[in-house]
Amino acid sequence: MSYQHQYLDGTRIHFPLGKVVCVGRNYAEHAKELNNPVPTEPLLFIKPGSCVVALDDSFSIPHDRGAVHYEAEIAVLIGKPLSKKPDAEEVMDAISGFAPALDLTLRELQDKLKAKSYPWEVAKSFDGACVLAAFVPGDAVSDLTDIGIRLSLNGEVRQDGNSRDMLNPILPLIQHICGHFSLQPGDVILTGTPVGVGPLKSGDRLQLELVGHSSFTTQVL
Ligand code: ZN
Repeated sequence: MSYQHQYLDGTRIHFPLGKVVCVGRNYAEHAKELNNPVPTEPLLFIKPGSCVVALDDSFSIPHDRGAVHYEAEIAVLIGKPLSKKPDAEEVMDAISGFAPALDLTLRELQDKLKAKSYPWEVAKSFDGACVLAAFVPGDAVSDLTDIGIRLSLNGEVRQDGNSRDMLNPILPLIQHICGHFSLQPGDVILTGTPVGVGPLKSGDRLQLELVGHSSFTTQVL
């Protein structure tokens, strides 16, 4: 079935699925674990809508291109057009929801691409590379600088981050993104992953939480 944005209560959100704008290395501890320098400005890349799947009972990963890493991230759903230099109030008004998401990454392939200074798309944009859970409404979150994101793998907590530790907090990050790409209703922002990424294998059970808001379980096929 094709992907459609939806809220946690099952209400369908009638925005078309757009692009997914992602930020790399937005938590210092995660940049360190992959031996990457901490960037001086947001490192942006885009996953196309074609790679998005809804978080369901299970999901598939490629098995023929090296290790696939999970990256748990806070996803922000954009509900109004934003461009140029929106002020903080406009950005707040344009946020329609928050959800936990997986930015799946073919890590060995990405390492090879990085070494050659090539673009990352083949490592980041394969079908199924963005797993999006259902959203809680934007107004369910009162403080954008205190949102917890947690991933447990086979019952063990592997990632336990909070938006307070982002190098580029959500509001200024979205303002910065708008300086490069206009955003449309249905676009999604993936706000970076905290420390603790690692490989997935068939049969792994994952719990993905937007702490205090929503919790989902799924399994790797
Ligand atoms: Zn990521």
